Amino acid sequence: MRAIVVREWGPPDVMKLEEAPIPSPGPGQVLARLRAVGVNPVETYVRAGTYVRKPSLPYTPGGDAAGVVGAIGAGVTGVEVGDRVYTHGTLTGAYAEAALCEAAQIHPLPGRVSFAQGAALGTPYSTAWRALFIQAHARPAETVLVHGASGGVGTACVQLARAAGLRVIGTAGTEKGMQLVGEQGAHDVLNHRDPEYLTRIGPLTGGRGVDLVVEMLANVNLDRDLDLLAPRGRVIVVGNRGRVEIDPRKIMSRDAAILAMTMFNATPEEYRVIHAALAPGLENGTLVPVVGRELPLASAPQAHTAVLEPGAYGKIVLVP
Ligand code: NAP
Repeated sequence: MRAIVVREWGPPDVMKLEEAPIPSPGPGQVLARLRAVGVNPVETYVRAGTYVRKPSLPYTPGGDAAGVVGAIGAGVTGVEVGDRVYTHGTLTGAYAEAALCEAAQIHPLPGRVSFAQGAALGTPYSTAWRALFIQAHARPAETVLVHGASGGVGTACVQLARAAGLRVIGTAGTEKGMQLVGEQGAHDVLNHRDPEYLTRIGPLTGGRGVDLVVEMLANVNLDRDLDLLAPRGRVIVVGNRGRVEIDPRKIMSRDAAILAMTMFNATPEEYRVIHAALAPGLENGTLVPVVGRELPLASAPQAHTAVLEPGAYGKIVLVP
């Protein structure tokens, strides 16, 4: 099979397309034949060698993909060869024509969800669900600001929060992104490149502020987020690319809280709960992953450059 292999840390072009043997599943494992692969920002940090968690070299990047079950190891039940599935995590890397997974890393992909959309599910939707409902305890009738709503995690947050009965304010940095955020169900959409945009949050909430901020770029926004909170409001930090100074008095005066999360801390039970929670929305069409761009697997370096550029529009997906 063809697979992207990283043999040294560095810029996007350290990712090379190589021939690799097709792995065969051991006990408790499943081989997925991949039709689409999701590209996440974290995969660029890992490839660059700057991330706190690094696999040993050489490795194949990625964990989010969709395809069909190709082979099943001993002891695996509830799945058959040919089943449509999406992966959240793999043992051998998802930037490839096939990947070996633990049985718990594959989930059914309903017929109405395309393979490209399935590749947009694993990390973005589980992150959005865990941020909203496990870490920040989002409740119906609350107001959430999805600060960075046009990308993979943001579009998932908007869909999930809207479906759960929250009032949703979303931001994007382009007109096209703003339109997308509105189409995903946000009640109000603001442009985070407009110098005045944060002054509009107060009027949009009747002066009360927002109950929750899901923050995609904390190093830029965290201190200003605290000004936007209602009493007992929460910020949940999902994305961060640097240091930031905050004024703790803003948290104290509101009995507010800054929360944070990484999916690396999610427990097996949380994974189980999250994917069970996503299933009905995928089946009934409430959750519709947005695929902005599809590129061939060999264009993984181009995808890694693009995923860090401004102007997000849903997910970038590689097609093996
Ligand atoms: P993405 O698809 O590249 O989207 C990035 C989002 O950030 C876009 O909506 C972008 O908007 C927005 N953004 C850019 N500048 C912003 C600003 N000044 N204020 C607010 N938002 C801004 O990435 P993603 O997959 O959604 O991930 C988002 C972030 O979460 C990344 O940093 C990623 O590493 C992190 N993440 C963390 C976890 C975790 O476990 N904690 C899991 C997944 C992702 P425009 O492009 O429209 O400007």
